[in-house]
Amino acid sequence: MSPAPRVRFAPSPTGHLHVGGARTALFNWLYARSQQGAFVLRIEDTDQERSTEESYAAILAGMRWLGLDWDEGPDRGGDFGPYLQSLRLDTYGEHLQQLAADGQAYKCFCSAEDLEGRAAEAKAAGGVWEGYDGKCRGLTGEEVTALEAAGKPHAWRLRTPDEGSTFWYDIILDKLEFQNEVLVDRVIVKADGFPTYQFACVVDDHLMEISHVLRGDDHVSNTPFQILIYQALGWKPPKFGHMPMILGPDKKRLSKRHGATSVQEFQGQGILPAAMLNYLSLLGWSPGGNAKEVMSAQEIIGKFSLKKVGSSAAAFDYDKLNHINSEHIKALDAAGRLALAMPLLEERGWRLDPAWLVHGADTTEAYLGRVLATLGNRFSSLVTLPEQIGFFFSDDFFVDQEAWAEHVSTSEASTLLTILADALEKGLAGDQAHAAGAFDDLVRECAEQAGVKAGRLIHPARVALTGQSRSAGIFEVMELMGLPRTIERLRRAAATA
Ligand code: GLU
Repeated sequence: MSPAPRVRFAPSPTGHLHVGGARTALFNWLYARSQQGAFVLRIEDTDQERSTEESYAAILAGMRWLGLDWDEGPDRGGDFGPYLQSLRLDTYGEHLQQLAADGQAYKCFCSAEDLEGRAAEAKAAGGVWEGYDGKCRGLTGEEVTALEAAGKPHAWRLRTPDEGSTFWYDIILDKLEFQNEVLVDRVIVKADGFPTYQFACVVDDHLMEISHVLRGDDHVSNTPFQILIYQALGWKPPKFGHMPMILGPDKKRLSKRHGATSVQEFQGQGILPAAMLNYLSLLGWSPGGNAKEVMSAQEIIGKFSLKKVGSSAAAFDYDKLNHINSEHIKALDAAGRLALAMPLLEERGWRLDPAWLVHGADTTEAYLGRVLATLGNRFSSLVTLPEQIGFFFSDDFFVDQEAWAEHVSTSEASTLLTILADALEKGLAGDQAHAAGAFDDLVRECAEQAGVKAGRLIHPARVALTGQSRSAGIFEVMELMGLPRTIERLRRAAATA
């Protein structure tokens, strides 16, 4: 049996946690959790100009929101720390010394301007510029000493082989091979003494005993160079798996143009973390066969396998995410729905008013619980919920103007609503006002007296009370709204005709 895998998510703290990064983190987490392995969080903050504290905090918050817990990381330590690359500079320095002593790394004195100039010349002459031309490769000891004495700063580059090829068997993309002649001597330590991503990543993946590097396929071009670093240090590379990139619905690279792209934005749009995790898991992976796609994290862990991660790009489908989100909301029990809806009330300052006289609901939570029960599975989105329940909490509720004009603003509706309001005032008292059945009977009596079908009264009453032509059972709505408010709203509506 092979040892338990160790995988990592290694974000650079230069922005929010985006869909691509979240999917990378998720697949590593799923692999670790499904194989009883370890999931390591390492922060790659060696780009001092672009790394920020805010981004670091946002990435951790995004992962916590999704429920992607890590076994080792900057905030919780572990046997292989520190997990912040900026705290590991000595380690990179030691390994650079090893490469320098072996003659595998050399000093390069070319400035950015020098390189730009030579790139332009190469292109003008009809050639290609791969990023470096090996200019400082052959500097003699004296030349190096002279340049240093002249105060010229230098970076360090890896001396890569000119012949042969570098290849690996990618877990997702199969065999990938690059000719060494096209792999240039890239920088491993910059002139400011900081390691490049390539070098720090390899040193850390090795020292942290990472067994599988699972990352986006935008890193495929980095992998051969990284393998050469492993070889130069005399290390065995880990296994690599490159996941296909995520496209927008139009099959172009997913970007702001398409809509939300950061986990934080989806959170703000009422997406549940369980739904986001579920949807992200389907971007490039599928449980196979006719297996259902709406799954809990535990179900996904149970089914996850790297073998089923596909190699073709996945298109982000916002409608499917919303559908999966609604299925996750519907799968919640009453307590779960309540916990989800309660913050929306708090944000709006909506609470139970004792004057509503609603039987058996003496707290806002109890009242909301009853309101949600009348909605049943019509509660499928946090975005539409306030509109669906606002009329229970505030007189300033959403009104469908078309429905109002059609059903309420007519003289017949006005007459019928007044008849009903009068009857409720006289006819319902005490416990009767707390039973939907009593409202039902009374509405039907009023319609009969007025010589119209019950529906001619029910439609205007529904729009008058809820502002909409579709709602939960109208008699339950009346019961939950409470007798005084029901009468008041019917009268107010009658007066608008
Ligand atoms: N810091 C790199 C990034 O955010 C990590 C790439 C890798 O996983 O090796 O893209």
